[in-house]
Amino acid sequence: MSEFIRVEIDSRKCVGIKECGECIGACPVNIFGKKGDHPVIIQKNQDECTLCDLCVEACNPDAIAIKKLYENNL
Ligand code: SF4
Ligand code: SF4
Repeated sequence: MSEFIRVEIDSRKCVGIKECGECIGACPVNIFGKKGDHPVIIQKNQDECTLCDLCVEACNPDAIAIKKLYENNL
């Protein structure tokens, strides 16, 4: 379970891996995996996120959100 960062994919906006899959190649720390035609978040890798936003920029339908959980405690 991630303590600091949560990466979320909005499945209503995501067009699927066959049509896109850009997030999987974009992330330098392998946070995106595959399940069938859907990208999934590899939970145990989430705190490796560098907040580089490459996945967000690669996702044309704007389906990815990076939540900074640590900011909730400020
Ligand atoms: S980049 Fe966005 S639309 Fe493309 S597979 Fe990933 S989450 Fe889905
Ligand atoms: S912000 Fe960067 S490190 Fe974090 S999930 Fe997206 S591509 Fe990966």
